[in-house]
Amino acid sequence: MTTDAEVKPEAPVAPAKMVEIPRVLSVKDLGDLMHVSPVEVIKELMKNGVMASINQVIDFDTAAIVATDMGFEAVETHAQDQREVLVERASGKQTIEEDETKLQPRPPVVTIMGHVDHGKTSLLDAIRETKVTASEHGGITQHIGAYQVHVNDHDITFLDTPGHEAFTAMRARGAQVTDVAVLVVAADDGVMPQTKEAIDHAKAAGVPIVVALNKIDLEDANPDRVKKELSDAGVVVEEWGGDTPMVAVSARSKVGLDDLLSNILVVSEVLDLKANPDREAIGIVVEAELSKTRGPLATVLVKTGTLRDGDYVVVGETMGRVKAMLNEHGKRIKSAGPSAPAEILGLQSVPKAGEMLVVMPDEKSARTTVTERIRQREAAAMHQQAHVTLDTLFGEISAGKLKELNIILKTDVQGSIEPIRSSLERLTNEQVKVKIIHTGSGAVTESDVMLAIASKGIIIAFNTGTEGGAERIATTDKVDIRHYNIIYKIVEDVDKALTGMLEPTFKEVITAHAEVRKVFRVARKNSIAGAYVRDGTIVRTDTARLQRNGAVIAEGKLSTLKRFQEDVREVQTNFECGIQIDGFDSFEEGDVIEFFRIERDT
Ligand code: GDP
Repeated sequence: MTTDAEVKPEAPVAPAKMVEIPRVLSVKDLGDLMHVSPVEVIKELMKNGVMASINQVIDFDTAAIVATDMGFEAVETHAQDQREVLVERASGKQTIEEDETKLQPRPPVVTIMGHVDHGKTSLLDAIRETKVTASEHGGITQHIGAYQVHVNDHDITFLDTPGHEAFTAMRARGAQVTDVAVLVVAADDGVMPQTKEAIDHAKAAGVPIVVALNKIDLEDANPDRVKKELSDAGVVVEEWGGDTPMVAVSARSKVGLDDLLSNILVVSEVLDLKANPDREAIGIVVEAELSKTRGPLATVLVKTGTLRDGDYVVVGETMGRVKAMLNEHGKRIKSAGPSAPAEILGLQSVPKAGEMLVVMPDEKSARTTVTERIRQREAAAMHQQAHVTLDTLFGEISAGKLKELNIILKTDVQGSIEPIRSSLERLTNEQVKVKIIHTGSGAVTESDVMLAIASKGIIIAFNTGTEGGAERIATTDKVDIRHYNIIYKIVEDVDKALTGMLEPTFKEVITAHAEVRKVFRVARKNSIAGAYVRDGTIVRTDTARLQRNGAVIAEGKLSTLKRFQEDVREVQTNFECGIQIDGFDSFEEGDVIEFFRIERDT
């Protein structure tokens, strides 16, 4: 127990003043916290080799060194919860948590898909021309990536970039904006390879289809043949007892457009699409560019909430304040509600299509969120896992994370598809369903890889190769493409993978050795090893194993790899660097750090 009498007299030397510092903050914020001029902070940073401007964001470790040098004791604030809320909000996870009582119907968002030359662009143009009279809206219709039409007292939003490639590329980035797919099939040409792809891509996304039987004005239009081919491809039209509406149209003669739009509304009705207009907006970028005169421009489709002029927003890894919003008629608007497209001005840089926009309460939280997002992406990149691979499949099934194995099957000839498909589908067991989501003959394409990413699937290539572009994306995104030339081997591997019998063989590859020459204590319990690379190249993503007098003391991922003050990806032989290992803090001079990575043994 402590009594007053036991309280120690004050230390003769005044203790360092304590300053609470968040995980990330700007140079100006740090100055404010210590009640010193930001110029003093900048000078102190310079002494430590960091050149920073007043608004630059620095991390806690850097800030703590400066604060310590300036006579403060730095402690990290426990703003964890607050920050997590912001990051979560920025990742758009909040969309799931909607206040049920505030939900209101929202317009459907439609993507037009189909084979090349079947009339996708013509149909988009025809709908725009007939349904949107520019003069009504006081402007000339512009291409901003999406437009809305008004039919039977309802709005419908059309995405202006047709095709399943754009659709799946967005999904691969985690953004699903489309509610209904209009599948354009030319009545004189029928179901073609890209028609089939579009069907599979829409199905994989769980998006309902409305068929637009186009070019019905042509003499050799043959609707019956198209219905039969569609049914062979897995789409049974209503007339044949299925649940897919089909509408005969002509984009050229502008026939059947109203009928098509009403059918889109009927399908949407069933989907019961809702959002809460009365909250801060979350949206998805559908198009973005850098305008010479207006700076970065992004067309955002609002998913939920209402986006307003003047809102602070985070978009992907950039931020800004909405300076102006324009609709598809080039007219200034003050707000945009659910499913409405709006072109926004005021971002600091150009975002990517598919990235999420989130409204933030103020500039500071927007800035903090961007910094945190970048940090998280870098951290995630270091520990990046393949999406789904045959090697890791059983673990995912056992952990209950995977209930379906999605497979994209590419073969040299059409004839090989069915036997492989049926043998694979037979492997379905109680835990996991084997689902062939797309098949086709020919090499593995970019679109196949995108579909695998979007659907967390694997690709099986039988007697066929992989296109260069597809190979690159697959490597970056770690999509498992398996090549085979014997059918039973495919079945055997998938079967083994499902039952946990497929034993992946891995090997450890030693990549570098470094010697600890000096230990630097930084703020708190942190220390950095000043090391010299004896052989090999240290790559930031490799794992480190600390050895002392021949014994292994610790093993872990690198949390820091620096050359001078700069974070670097690699350090080569004969160079010095600063190293921190995750969860380890007791380096000693003379320690040897061995670096390695695990690679598949092929
Ligand atoms: P996309 O590649 O699917 O976007 O197809 P386009 O919209 O570019 O159309 C391809 C060609 O088909 C163009 O020459 C169009 O003029 C023509 N086309 C589009 N719709 C119709 C139609 O309803 N009837 C006829 N006869 N031709 C059409």
